[in-house]
Amino acid sequence: MNPLIAICGTTGVGKSKLSIELALKLSEKLYGGRWTGARVINADSMQVYTGLDIITNKVPLAERQGVEHVLMDIKQPGEQYVVGEWVRDAIDIIDETHRRNQIPIVVGGTSYWIQHLIFPNRLVSPSASPSPSSVALPSSELADSVEALPQTLRQLYDNLPEVPPSAAVDPEAAYSLHSLLSALDDRIASRWHWRDTRKVLRSLHIAKDSSRKPSEIIDEQSQTMVVPRYRTLCFWLYADLPIINPRLDERVDEMIRLGLVDEIRSLQRLATMNAAHNDPGKPEKQIDMSNIDFTKGIFQSIGFKEFQTYLEASIPDGKLFEAAVETMKQSTRKYAKRQISWIRNKLLPVVNRVNSTCSSLKEALTPTYLLDANELGIKWDTEVRERAEAISIAFVEDEDLPDPLSLSDTAERMLAVEEKLTDPTAVLEARRKVVCPICSTDPLQPVMVEEGKEWAVHAKTRLHRRLLAKSTATPHRIARQAEDVTQAEDEFSLEGSTAFTT
Ligand SMILES: [Zn+2]
Repeated sequence: MNPLIAICGTTGVGKSKLSIELALKLSEKLYGGRWTGARVINADSMQVYTGLDIITNKVPLAERQGVEHVLMDIKQPGEQYVVGEWVRDAIDIIDETHRRNQIPIVVGGTSYWIQHLIFPNRLVSPSASPSPSSVALPSSELADSVEALPQTLRQLYDNLPEVPPSAAVDPEAAYSLHSLLSALDDRIASRWHWRDTRKVLRSLHIAKDSSRKPSEIIDEQSQTMVVPRYRTLCFWLYADLPIINPRLDERVDEMIRLGLVDEIRSLQRLATMNAAHNDPGKPEKQIDMSNIDFTKGIFQSIGFKEFQTYLEASIPDGKLFEAAVETMKQSTRKYAKRQISWIRNKLLPVVNRVNSTCSSLKEALTPTYLLDANELGIKWDTEVRERAEAISIAFVEDEDLPDPLSLSDTAERMLAVEEKLTDPTAVLEARRKVVCPICSTDPLQPVMVEEGKEWAVHAKTRLHRRLLAKSTATPHRIARQAEDVTQAEDEFSLEGSTAFTT
């Protein structure tokens, strides 16, 4: 397996700096051997866009010290570029890099891009992707179940809605979809609450499109061992939030000094042009800025949305400006927090699972190290740069690697994560929803609760206990309680899923 080095971590922690230092060192140290250098592959979903260097935090050309950066500045702002496209492009670039006898260093804050690059076949999942498994063969099991459907459900199956109905507005339609899924694949049906029509309908579409039971697809994914595409050395560059937050605040102030607001204005013009393009009848001035989709492409950049109110004001207003800066700082801090929790809760469990199948650290397929960037200055050299260099060289030259927990107290504290279920079948089995017979008085709107922790909580609720004692209830309250259950499900739904939402 060819080597890959990946550097992930929060925004503003110094990933780009480290990647350049590492590339320079590898070029110097490995010169003449099998590997003759390194190049940096961008894994930041905003830095793929051309221009807008301030809002996307690109390393200025002068600071790249001649190290080649690829998959940066490759898309026009306004274009879409999603995880699957990036993974495909990154694989091409990595293969080409290996052919040049160079080490690819993937670096960026978009950790789920990196995760999907390292681990293949995880984008297709019944719980997150509407597309069926491409290698799937139709199974007779589903066909038999479809044949056996009663007529009303068969009609529903043949005419599946494209848009999930709202369980609050149309509980009957919601429950029918769940009944259909139960009849076709009871294992996946018991994974979703009937009120969660989005997931229920998605599973139905997967069944229909692939002609297979979604649970069969999940089982297949479980049987396929998670094997990384490359032997991957993972660095998690880390600083505690109380340390990183003031640095992030300072960086926002610096971005403003460098001309952030001008970039946001040009982004706004672009958004207006896009809107005008979609609505050619309207003169540009009348385009409603509230129609901008802040969840897509470059318009997700932190700062763009935050400055809208200030920029829309007819006369420049100092207070609005201060508010925009403060909101941008808050958004940046929240983003950093989410990045850390992704790495701990999503990336580390999979990485650990893969490494646990290897007999020694030297054999590990995804050795992962936390580098402590809590202190800068001289500590950066000793705790971050020198360690990364030594470990990378040992990795590339197939030498013994140090124990990741031995690197620092921070590493020991942050790398020790609770073991999580990563096997898709285990997740499916562990997260079953069951109907509470006590609270379900209307059989067409049953109260469903997840087994385990949620059930324990449910059984202690006042309502459940009262109904258990009296065995009488009002339907109105039951519906309300079922809604609470759905909310709980939404909060947990990402956690155990094999699929990483994009
Ligand atoms: Zn109950």
